[in-house]
Amino acid sequence: SKYKSVALVIGITGIVGNSLAEILPFSGIPGGPWKVYGVARRPRPASTSHLPIEYIQCDVLDEEETYDKLSKLNDVTHVFYVAWDKRSTEDENCVINGTMLRNVLKTVIPNSPKLKHICLQTGRRHYTGPIDLYGKYHVQPHDPPFREDLPRLKSSNFCYTLEDVLLEEVKQKENLTWSVHRPGLVFGFSPFSSMNIVRSLCIYAAICKHEGEPLRFPGNRQAWEGYWDASDADLIAEHQIWAAMSRRAKNEAFNCSNGDVFKWKDLWKVLADQFGIEHYGFQETEEKVPSLVEMMKDKGPVWDNIARENGLLPMKLNNAGAWQFVDSVLSGKSLLDSMNKSKEHGFVGFRNSKTSFNSWIKKMKTHNIVP
Ligand code: NDP
Repeated sequence: SKYKSVALVIGITGIVGNSLAEILPFSGIPGGPWKVYGVARRPRPASTSHLPIEYIQCDVLDEEETYDKLSKLNDVTHVFYVAWDKRSTEDENCVINGTMLRNVLKTVIPNSPKLKHICLQTGRRHYTGPIDLYGKYHVQPHDPPFREDLPRLKSSNFCYTLEDVLLEEVKQKENLTWSVHRPGLVFGFSPFSSMNIVRSLCIYAAICKHEGEPLRFPGNRQAWEGYWDASDADLIAEHQIWAAMSRRAKNEAFNCSNGDVFKWKDLWKVLADQFGIEHYGFQETEEKVPSLVEMMKDKGPVWDNIARENGLLPMKLNNAGAWQFVDSVLSGKSLLDSMNKSKEHGFVGFRNSKTSFNSWIKKMKTHNIVP
């Protein structure tokens, strides 16, 4: 075979799946040349048509279908698990996502004799609990900056379920290694994900521009002025490929963020400039924080017009914009993690968050997600 490694990416159309699909096939990538299988439930989206991947449409929540479609892949050397199916309660998140991962590993581990390593992506909710679901802290979160060795919080959390399933299933095979990746807020490209802050903010900005409204910051003063970090989706993909290849990264969990800090007030200018909006910013008010859920409530038809006029990918406003997610992020306090462990283990990748934000906005435009 002309390939040295074979990746099975579960969640290929997701925010990090898309970056893995773009990066793995490049020449010169560690472990390469890579063959890439990519799995998601939807039919192959047009945005992936230029990528040299073997697309497999499969619902990994369905045990039989997973077995039928994935047990044939006998050449897989590395699994990149970057899928998730967001549900309305954390208990459901645990059951559904735990079952999905288990179905994949129960099929792939015994049927892929060359399998060496599994990368599992979870996230910062490992340290905070599921704030996106409740809009507030469900249990007392850890104090940032988050370190990988902090103890588990005493509440259900699908990140814990996934790690437990992983550790249980890797026992099936001797010398099979794993790594867990915990990004924070991800900046990346994905037409469909349930949590894409860049896509959501672009849609909000496009609507403000169309209506001649100022680009108000939908968050509180802490969020506007505090120090933040983010995780560039390409950097997360690089981090996973590093862990797949490096001996020093085996059987460990790692945070994965850009390595710098930014303020939303600076990124807001980038967003306003990209959409040609002159008036923007944080408005001091006595009332409550402006919420995107509320501001976008009646904008469905406006968005449909914008999409039609500009030949955008047709998508309903409430699928395109993750309003509740963005509200919960920007009405909270800024959270930071530590990248020391990654560096100490040999990963020195980084991104400039402002450049990263700007380049993902451009990509959204190129792929007709926003005007
Ligand atoms: P996305 O929502 O971007 O992507 C999910 C992917 O999984 C899609 O390709 C989706 O495609 C696929 N998928 C979902 N259900 C199934 C299924 N039953 N069978 C097959 N494929 C499926 O994921 P994220 O990157 O956002 O999330 C992955 C992990 O990263 C999660 O643990 C999340 O908490 C974490 N994370 C995400 C952050 C973010 O800002 N997005 C921030 C920090 C952590 P399809 O729908 O077509 O099946």
